[in-house]
Amino acid sequence: MIIDAKCKKCRAYGQKLFLKGERCFSSKCAMNKRPFPPGGTKARRQYKKNMSIFHIQLFEKQKIKLWYCLSEKQLKRFYNISIKQKGSAPENLAKNLEKRMDNVIFHLGFTKSKYSAHQAVNHGMFLLNNKKHNIGSTILKPGDVITIRNKNHKLFKDIEQTIKDVTVPAWLELDKKELKGTVKSDPNISELNLPYDFHSIIEAYSK
Ligand code: SF4
Repeated sequence: MIIDAKCKKCRAYGQKLFLKGERCFSSKCAMNKRPFPPGGTKARRQYKKNMSIFHIQLFEKQKIKLWYCLSEKQLKRFYNISIKQKGSAPENLAKNLEKRMDNVIFHLGFTKSKYSAHQAVNHGMFLLNNKKHNIGSTILKPGDVITIRNKNHKLFKDIEQTIKDVTVPAWLELDKKELKGTVKSDPNISELNLPYDFHSIIEAYSK
């Protein structure tokens, strides 16, 4: 039996983390077939209901790091940025993470997973405001424009087909013909309905 490490992560955290591209959107997703934690006996295969605050915070941190492809150091950096900004720190954190360049590229449908968006940005495959930019963690701002540097690269061979079905969040605009994405505004976090507890993350780091 093939042990799928990425799907195991989703099953461990009880949530689809979209780590495998197309398969995540299909009926083959392990969270459809096996919606319980991996390992252990049958009796142990259920999600814990009564976790300590410490465990909830740890759980949320792990999920968010997987979802946004972050290391501990990078998440801490986003925390530090978010608490210095005006307004609610959890909301700032959510907005800053959503506006990461690699996350925006995934939303635009230019790649099939966040991980491949992260890799593709690192390899310099995108332009930010018409200039090559290879830092996926850059926090974009309204007016920023993302385009593909080399549309003939094999990573984008089916993009004209796959992008037809893409629906972007209201804070982004996608020109499907030109393959151009624009940040229209800051994301409205309550509309995005993100399944993460950003309060727990802020509390975890503020100790
Ligand atoms: Fe696997 Fe589904 Fe998670 Fe994708 S969303 S990595 S297919 S379990």
